Amino acid sequence: MQTKLPQAFKETKTGQRADEILRSCVHCGLCNATCPTYQLLGDELDGPRGRIYLIKEMLESEQADTVVQTHLDRCLTCRACETACPSGVAYGELLEIGRDFLEEHGKRGLIDSAMRRWLVSVVPDIVRFKRWSRLGAAFRWILPRILREQVPRHRVATHEVFETRERQVLVLQGCVQRMATPQVNASLAALLDSRGIEVIFDDEENCCGSLSLHLGNTRQTRTTFANNIDALLPFLDHVEAVISTASGCGVTLKDYPRLLGGDASYFSKACRVAEKVVDVSEYLSQLGLEWDKVAEFRRVAWHAPCTLQHGQGITGTVERLLQGAGYELVPVRDSHICCGSAGTYSLLQPQLARTLRKQKLAALSEQAPDVIATANVGCQTHLSNGDENVPVVHWLELLR
Ligand code: SF4
Ligand code: SF4
Repeated sequence: MQTKLPQAFKETKTGQRADEILRSCVHCGLCNATCPTYQLLGDELDGPRGRIYLIKEMLESEQADTVVQTHLDRCLTCRACETACPSGVAYGELLEIGRDFLEEHGKRGLIDSAMRRWLVSVVPDIVRFKRWSRLGAAFRWILPRILREQVPRHRVATHEVFETRERQVLVLQGCVQRMATPQVNASLAALLDSRGIEVIFDDEENCCGSLSLHLGNTRQTRTTFANNIDALLPFLDHVEAVISTASGCGVTLKDYPRLLGGDASYFSKACRVAEKVVDVSEYLSQLGLEWDKVAEFRRVAWHAPCTLQHGQGITGTVERLLQGAGYELVPVRDSHICCGSAGTYSLLQPQLARTLRKQKLAALSEQAPDVIATANVGCQTHLSNGDENVPVVHWLELLR
């Protein structure tokens, strides 16, 4: 694709990268077939090829209008288009550049802006998020459905106290996960203790930064990355791995070196952190141990989060672990398609998110599984709020 980006922009690192990505797109449109919003809305501008054009025009003209904003806001950042693209177009990276530009030069309505400001100031801050979650839980009954679904159900996980071991791993707690599904990390701690590995947590750990990254809030994103790196660094020399049990956090942490590529003071630290970060499925599979299934379920419908299959490129690993434990995995149609959770998407684009959830739950339930398993807190809570009666769990909860 030909580009005519303004010279001054092209001389920046971001401008060079945007130019490279735009030029790598040959405009074939193969990506549209895998795009959930293109499938739902049938509008070229709601598919990856159209969005790439919109970003190109916006960067070339240096004008951010509401049309671009509408179509970029509707993108789930699921990156199914990247998996499908034969030319290796780094769509997610281009979208980040486009969203940064939009946030700086576009104009949002008052409610939309206020909602976005609220999200970036509350969710990544554990103390504030806990406070708001408790308030939301107390008034759940009067909240509209769109907000009610976002309030984590208060769960208490019993963290057993295990022995101190020589082999240790640091497990990330996340911001939403520690409120909504704390039982996931508790399950992992018990599993690993049974094999002589101690799980430790870092009380100073911060949000991974994915929320502000997706909302195009560059300043807060960089600060969050830096704070999180500072909190994790002291552990790196004595833990085997930094494990993410939420694929939405893992994908961002693994990408810290690219995201902090222009930051001389943090780049090498970002590389050290990223080298240690693994998804829990990678860690368990590299241990090469066997696990048992739980008694109450046998047939599992597996939903691979986009951040696992498209973002981290991990496919087949969880499936092998579950099958190894004795589960039967039922076939699931359109398994590459997003469930509609996509971070804050279910709050900011509720109608599209609900339609995608309905379709996903219909596909997951088709073969009458006993349980639906996934690997990210966002997908788990979003799917749990749907209308199917099949329980939705994190796959770790299925191992003994
Ligand atoms: S992003 Fe890839 S698949 Fe989509 S139009 Fe461009 S080259 Fe084709
Ligand atoms: S990231 Fe997902 S929703 Fe966005 S353009 Fe690509 S496939 Fe479509």
